[in-house]
Amino acid sequence: MENFVVSARKYRPQHFSTVVGQSHITTTLKNAILQNHLAHAFLFCGPRGVGKTTCARILAKTINCEKLGKDGEACDQCNSCQSFNKGASFNIHELDAASNNSVDDIRELIEQVRFAPQAGKYKIYIIDEVHMLSASAFNAFLKTLEEPPAHAIFILATTEKHKILPTILSRCQIFDFKRITPADIVAYLEEITSKEKITAEHAALQLIAQKSDGCMRDALSILDKIVSFTNGQLAYASTLEHLNILDEEYFFQFLELLEKEDLPGVLSLYDEIDQKGFEGDTVLNLFSSFLRNLLISKDARSIGLLQVVEAFRKKYIAAASKISTPYIIGALNILNEAEIGFKQARNKKLHVEFHLIRLTYLQQAVNFIQDDGVAKKKRLDEVKPVAFKQIGFVEIKDKKIKSPETSSPLPKKQEAILKIEASIIEEKKSIPEKDIIPSEKAKEAGALKKIREQILHRKLEPQQIKSLTQDALFEAWDGYLQKLQENNQVTSHHNLRTSTISVINESQFDVFVTSRIQQQFVESERTNLLIYIQDRFNNPKIQFSITLDAEAEKDPMPAEQSLSQRDQYLKMISMYPLVKEMRDQLNLDLDY
Ligand SMILES: [Zn+2]
Repeated sequence: MENFVVSARKYRPQHFSTVVGQSHITTTLKNAILQNHLAHAFLFCGPRGVGKTTCARILAKTINCEKLGKDGEACDQCNSCQSFNKGASFNIHELDAASNNSVDDIRELIEQVRFAPQAGKYKIYIIDEVHMLSASAFNAFLKTLEEPPAHAIFILATTEKHKILPTILSRCQIFDFKRITPADIVAYLEEITSKEKITAEHAALQLIAQKSDGCMRDALSILDKIVSFTNGQLAYASTLEHLNILDEEYFFQFLELLEKEDLPGVLSLYDEIDQKGFEGDTVLNLFSSFLRNLLISKDARSIGLLQVVEAFRKKYIAAASKISTPYIIGALNILNEAEIGFKQARNKKLHVEFHLIRLTYLQQAVNFIQDDGVAKKKRLDEVKPVAFKQIGFVEIKDKKIKSPETSSPLPKKQEAILKIEASIIEEKKSIPEKDIIPSEKAKEAGALKKIREQILHRKLEPQQIKSLTQDALFEAWDGYLQKLQENNQVTSHHNLRTSTISVINESQFDVFVTSRIQQQFVESERTNLLIYIQDRFNNPKIQFSITLDAEAEKDPMPAEQSLSQRDQYLKMISMYPLVKEMRDQLNLDLDY
């Protein structure tokens, strides 16, 4: 343990048979060597750290071996093999085109190519990152590649095959290296740890394999780091910590909380993750991967794609069976939108929280869209209040502070989100417009109104309905105007104040406006205004119409951009009251 050498170097494969995960290439190379059908130029393509340079070195050693084995492997005993193993052979030249990419560098190499090897059969030239060569260097090299001397073999390696000129491609035998599978990486790491007498939990090695993303070089260097941190005891928990990987367990917890629509729980859990220093976009991204894993766990045909720590496998399958595909897809959409908007968001934490709130109420929106007829009606009856705990009285230094009533504004909020989600999912269903029966749409709108009524009705039942007289309406109207003023909604206040209201019957009144803009402002206040008025009169049946002055009706519709930024914000919060609520709760300043 004390002299644990960097595994990447110590365990660099010395034979084709020990190269991990590239048997399609090593077998072909061995056969070519045995049958003496070697090309003079090879192009090794593939991601970094998967064994391109290693294979190139093994090839160089093997074709120079004096006692080549019948299996096409080098003997490791002869002079040539030994000098290769010591890194002292003159028959191998490596050029890193990333740092030596000028014409002069290539000319120097071409000079050397002319001389035959003093010992051994072949001189091998490995040009790494060959796509980095300058255009003129490429051209200088092309002639040599066209007519190479019999003793020269070129091995060009690249991570970016598409950048290689066709003239080069056509002169090379091309090998595509594969990303190494997590299973292969884990097996190899297990081999090393057992040789080094390191205790390693299988799950810890799986984590390393996951983190290295098919790159063996990374996997080995991660292994080295963690071995030295943990004194040779690789446990799952400590590996998580050192790799700074967010435990998947968190997402299973999220799932449970979302199922219960436990918003406070969701937000607290996110806060805990945030405290650990994970960036919001990382969390969003991991959450998406988690949902993707759930989705593929739903079907036996796709479950093979699930690459998670073994211990989580059953958990994924169990969780997937309880959750519907439309829900997962809806959630992925929300997370995708969250990721797209993340860069622009000023307050990153708030941005993530906002999308977590959307996720919390997603199930209701999914139910809403999916069900029809009786089933839909039943679900609507079931709409639950949010699982906020009543806070009650809080004692702070002799002062008794009554917490604001928490139950009444929430159904409104819930409904607002429900409406937004429903419209988003509706849009994404991509059903051609003609296939939707108009009455279906109307039913939906009617259903929304019904929820609103139900919510309000439940609360209002015990009290007496107040009759809607002109005087009482004026009084209620003034009350609402005052509310607008308190909230600094100056424009809305002005537009509502200058409109004319008149009672039509016991549950109907009309708002008369003189311009399109005024009409828009009253319209944008509709939801809040109705809730307020219905509340004042204890009558959920109250509705109002907006009548536009006949003269103004001839005017063209005002353009959207004529609203100032501040007015746009005001308009937005009147449509989505939640935005304002969040702004208030988090004390955010907006610059208009
Ligand atoms: Zn040998």
